[in-house]
Amino acid sequence: MEFSAIFRKKYGSFRRFFHMLLQARLPFLWIALDLAFSFGIINIGVSATEYSAKLYAGEVDFGTVVLPFLVVTIISLVLGSLSGIVTNVCTAFMNRNLRRMVWRKAVRLPLSFYDEGGPREMISRITQDTTSISNLIMRIIIPIITGAYSSWMILQKISTYDAALMWSLVAILPVYVVFNFIMGRLNFGLNDLINLRNAQLTAAISEKAGNMMLVKTMGTEESELQAGVEKMEASYKASVMSTAIGQISQPMHTIAYLLQTIVTIMVGRGFYASGAITLPEWIAYYGFASQLCNLLADYLGYWASFKSIQGATDRVSQIMDAPSEETKTGEAAGNLAGEITLDHVDFSYGEVPLFQDLSITIPAGKITAIVGPSGSGKSTILNLINRLYPIQGGTVSIGGKDTAKYSLATYRKAMSYVTQECVMYAGTLRDNLCQGLKRSPTDAELDEVCETAGILDYVKSLPEGYNTFVGEGGASLSGGQRQRFTVASALLRQQDLLLLDEATAAMDIDGKDRVWTGIRKVMAGKTVVFVAHDGQTIRNADYIIVLRDGAVEAAGDREVILATNPFCMEMMSMKEEEAD
Ligand code: ADP
Repeated sequence: MEFSAIFRKKYGSFRRFFHMLLQARLPFLWIALDLAFSFGIINIGVSATEYSAKLYAGEVDFGTVVLPFLVVTIISLVLGSLSGIVTNVCTAFMNRNLRRMVWRKAVRLPLSFYDEGGPREMISRITQDTTSISNLIMRIIIPIITGAYSSWMILQKISTYDAALMWSLVAILPVYVVFNFIMGRLNFGLNDLINLRNAQLTAAISEKAGNMMLVKTMGTEESELQAGVEKMEASYKASVMSTAIGQISQPMHTIAYLLQTIVTIMVGRGFYASGAITLPEWIAYYGFASQLCNLLADYLGYWASFKSIQGATDRVSQIMDAPSEETKTGEAAGNLAGEITLDHVDFSYGEVPLFQDLSITIPAGKITAIVGPSGSGKSTILNLINRLYPIQGGTVSIGGKDTAKYSLATYRKAMSYVTQECVMYAGTLRDNLCQGLKRSPTDAELDEVCETAGILDYVKSLPEGYNTFVGEGGASLSGGQRQRFTVASALLRQQDLLLLDEATAAMDIDGKDRVWTGIRKVMAGKTVVFVAHDGQTIRNADYIIVLRDGAVEAAGDREVILATNPFCMEMMSMKEEEAD
């Protein structure tokens, strides 16, 4: 790889990182306050070291040594606890701002972004990675600044005793740094390995334990058992190795520390013996030298921590850099009652094209079914009408007007779209039915749409009625019930255009007919487009479009298509399966 490419990449990720920090609106005032406290503590710490050196040297005069020592110690303690409060508040502010920033972005990202990473990925970006970033700032960047200031203060102080003493201390530090660096790398590598093994173990177990039904129905208990045990074995080996290395590194560390102490004392002793420095200065020098070594050790740790956090910062800044959906610009969409036309549309989800030069006309004021083999692009047609994905060529128009001219925010609200998943949130039935509605419908209105969707009897049988709480994802309802509620919710919005993606698939045969009769009544004169995969449902269509491999195989009135298209004829001859 070319060097220029490496640097460009690095520069790019730093630029992205700083851009992200600017967007996050960091609490700069609190950060400045935190730094001010830290600088104050460092200054007082230097005085405290000098006073304690005088005490160790036997200078115990109350007014000039003991009292000032007590005063600076107390001030340092008070500043320390105030600084702790400021640091915690600052971190909490930062977490909140970073999470808000990523969440704001997350809801504005196009759906295609979620196809790549998946929703779980976004959850950890918002909850965990944002915390890593605030840790990077509060536990690495700020300590680097305060550490540099502290080192400078210490070296400056020692140079006031004797400049040569200061330089000799600077000369012996690299040995300490190199040793610590090697041990730090070793420990970091091992910890990384343990974390990796534990993460692999947790991921494997949570995936399988969460899908035990699949494991059992596939009869893969034995192989899953073996795979889990192997992950546990790998985690165990990494822990044992780390313990062994830890046992060796500890005594080596102690020996290195002792050697460094002896060298520091000997150097100071030489200066003291020659009369260049006084006894308290020699003792203070020793204290300062230890502090400096600790600071350097911290610096080596920062690099390791920075590397482990870098993944999180990169992931979050990638999210922040991704283009958002532009929802506000464009005309406000009102009436979407006209004929829908896809005119020479090109579309692909990724690299492989799904539609090339596709043209379809969906009549206004009728019920149109889109049918075809699985993967032929039926749901995608609804996604493109809803503008969930941008088309790469051609136009999608309603009533002769290019839908791209409408602002996304108003356009999507002007139609109802019941997706295949029939998603419900944790909340009451009323909350779920009224989702996205600005007005509060009366119970009579709710009764009407629930009656149409064939779910009113069920609601009436519940002691809490519409105030019944349904668990996350509507967990307390069956698939068919969820479909009925989402259809009812869509009807409540009273739009001119209704899109349904296999929205009655999980209902029983009688239920489907009842719901379709209701939809036909409520949507009379309005446009309904639905994806169907069974013969019973397509009987409810006025018009049918048959798709195959991303192209229109046939389109026309129901009777004509059902009598002439082989795919539809086969669908009609298939036995209905009971559901619900
Ligand atoms: P149908 O509804 O006819 O079963 P779809 O419109 O769902 O077909 O899908 C058409 C093709 O596009 C399929 O090959 C499917 O794998 C692919 N596809 C659908 N959704 C996505 C997506 N979000 N990302 C990538 N490919 C997709």
